[in-house]
Amino acid sequence: MSGFFSEKLRGLKPYVPGEQPKDGNCIKLNTNENPYYTSGRAAAAADSRMLTSLRKYNDPENSLLVGEIASYYSVKNENVIVTNGSDEVLAFCFAAFGGKGAVFPDVTYGFYKVFASLFGVDYTEIPLDKEFKIDAEPYKKCRRAVFIANPNAQTGIYMPPEEIESIVSSDPDRVVVVDEAYIDFGGESVIGMTAEYKNLVIVRTFSKSRSLAGARVGFAVADAALIKDLKRVKYSFNPYNVNSVSEVLAAEALKDNEYFEKCRGLICASREKLVRELKKLGFEVLPSLANFVLAKSAKTDGGELYERLKKNGILVRHFADEERIKQYIRITVGTDGQIDALIAELKHITGAI
Ligand SMILES: *Cc1c(COP(=O)(O)O)cnc(C)c1O
Repeated sequence: MSGFFSEKLRGLKPYVPGEQPKDGNCIKLNTNENPYYTSGRAAAAADSRMLTSLRKYNDPENSLLVGEIASYYSVKNENVIVTNGSDEVLAFCFAAFGGKGAVFPDVTYGFYKVFASLFGVDYTEIPLDKEFKIDAEPYKKCRRAVFIANPNAQTGIYMPPEEIESIVSSDPDRVVVVDEAYIDFGGESVIGMTAEYKNLVIVRTFSKSRSLAGARVGFAVADAALIKDLKRVKYSFNPYNVNSVSEVLAAEALKDNEYFEKCRGLICASREKLVRELKKLGFEVLPSLANFVLAKSAKTDGGELYERLKKNGILVRHFADEERIKQYIRITVGTDGQIDALIAELKHITGAI
């Protein structure tokens, strides 16, 4: 840190993203990317002709994409904001709604803590229960902004809509942000509830289920007043946050429903296969409705599994600094071929063969 770095931010501990190796040969199961290509329809729409329009600034309202999202989810344009990845809209939520502090689980998406620190939001982490589930009770009437990932990050465990609703309805005077980054892999979205609750924000991303992580597109759906608040932050920071190429990619990916259904069907089936195989090897696997599973070997420590897999060209995620889950590894659901390679390697490592 240089002597110039702001005094106020000296304590900031930045988010550490999963590795993105230059070596294209490794089996990459560490950052919950989609193993299938971006929709061909999307890729074709963002071809070289688009590059001629890059001379001009893009539409700061991203009306094309907002319109597609609104019609896809049966809401109005005024209920949608699009952002540079969902990370950006999550940051806007902390800035806009964290005035009275924030609460989130002790095991969840690591960025919540970082955003809270960056924006000076006082936060409390509420422990998951013994089974790694989110207990709704402490979030009710807690008077602070609530951030819940559903399915939850790192565990993959899903919270049913009734429980989300019980938190949202318990206190209309604070905002509840539900981060549905993984909802397309088997859960039921509560986007529909935003029509009824004026304190609910749903955050979504094109990075996971739409195979567009590198394009950086996310969005939020909420009551029009909340969207206006989020735009107030956006226009105080970066009005042109979603570039014109990414906007077209996302809009076209959303229209390619056939491909979307095919890919998510494959991923859900592969998840079941992965869980089955891990259990056969004696792993404890948390029940996941996401495109990853959190698993623990009875024999081999999480850190060692991570290192030995990496040596053999397979990347998974290990959270060495997180006390409650450091025995575990988080494995992204890849293709069946990738899963076979992973399982073969794990058999060696755990001494099953
Ligand atoms: C991946 C992820 C995000 C971030 O997604 P981007 O849209 O790529 O910024 C947000 N929340 C959770 C829980 C995630 O796992």
